[in-house]
Amino acid sequence: MSNIFNTYNQYPIDIVAGHDWHLTDKNGQTYLDFTSGIGVCNFGYSNEQITDNVFEQATKIWHTSNLYQSQLTEDVAGLLAGPYKLAFFCNSGTEANEAAMKFARKTTGRSKMVTFHNSFHGRTYGAMSLTGNGAIKVGYAPLVPDVTFGDYNSNSALSLIDDQTAGVILEVVQGEGGVINGKPDWLTKVQTACHQAGALLIIDEVQTGIGRTGKKFAYQHYNLNPDVVTVAKGIGNGLPLGAMLGKKKFAATFGPGSQGTTFGGNKLSLAAAKGVLQQLTPSFLAMVDEKAASVWNYLNETIDTLPAVESISGLGLMIGVHLSPVVDVNDVITQLQAKGLLTLSAKYNTLRLLPPLVMTEHDLKKGLDMITDVLESAVTTTA
Ligand code: PMP
Repeated sequence: MSNIFNTYNQYPIDIVAGHDWHLTDKNGQTYLDFTSGIGVCNFGYSNEQITDNVFEQATKIWHTSNLYQSQLTEDVAGLLAGPYKLAFFCNSGTEANEAAMKFARKTTGRSKMVTFHNSFHGRTYGAMSLTGNGAIKVGYAPLVPDVTFGDYNSNSALSLIDDQTAGVILEVVQGEGGVINGKPDWLTKVQTACHQAGALLIIDEVQTGIGRTGKKFAYQHYNLNPDVVTVAKGIGNGLPLGAMLGKKKFAATFGPGSQGTTFGGNKLSLAAAKGVLQQLTPSFLAMVDEKAASVWNYLNETIDTLPAVESISGLGLMIGVHLSPVVDVNDVITQLQAKGLLTLSAKYNTLRLLPPLVMTEHDLKKGLDMITDVLESAVTTTA
């Protein structure tokens, strides 16, 4: 009998070691990883610079209170937020979005939050209340009030953004919601509506950020300049770290005592983040772009032509393969596991691929070949 709450649908695979983009389970079976631990270990499982940074930090000091000034925190904030935004460090994506909701309400003095169906922003009360997935809210009412949902990519949602609105939160590509791309012109219209209403535009880059789409942040693909950006997952490459980035002109919102958390900006997590950000250079991002181009070539020419596949969506190395209803994504994932490839699902029978950004083109192709094999036989079997 397990001593663990059954909150996760667990696969019977106990991963005990990782190297580059390969994982090993307790029986010695190895897997090619197309999950990055759900978009976290973008630099793989044995990146030298990140490992060295964390080991070196571990020999010095792991934690001090946020009451003391820290050059490491300044360094990471500078690398992450750039010249235009200030950073608030926390421990997860959920917490970053929780902070963003508080930030928007306090900055504007308004309470209404506009968010979108199908979105995912986390599981604490604020972040869950902003999330457009009813399944995760069952049994938890009452939720945080004054949250309004619009249809993603729909112009009808724009009229929800009015002079009562504190903030609008969205993912540029909805991840958990099925890897749904925001339409570039719609995203720009949301931004314009925010500007007209005096509402803050909050972009949740928890899954799309830190190089996943070939840019530091996915919003940089479009003509967007959000007031607030939230990040987590890839920023610590596996150590827990989240951050809310807010425009400098709103600095007064988060003054002394207004927001905080004991572990926010933990030194081991920041040491990892420094390693991540130092390597997230324009040439690294160009390399991700190049790999993504060859992956998308394969996706379009091969996988999209299979009878088991309805369509493919995503950006960069964030990919959704939408399966036909005759194929169950969970069966596909299990068959891929047996072949030695780890993948994810997302809403709407979607096979979600989030390979580490450092994976070679050779191994990316190897994984895609396995997916092709399984999807080819999936339809033959059901036919
Ligand atoms: N926002 C987005 C877009 C996410 O994908 C997730 C996690 N899947 C979260 C927020 C929540 O992040 P965390 O699990 O780190 O709290």
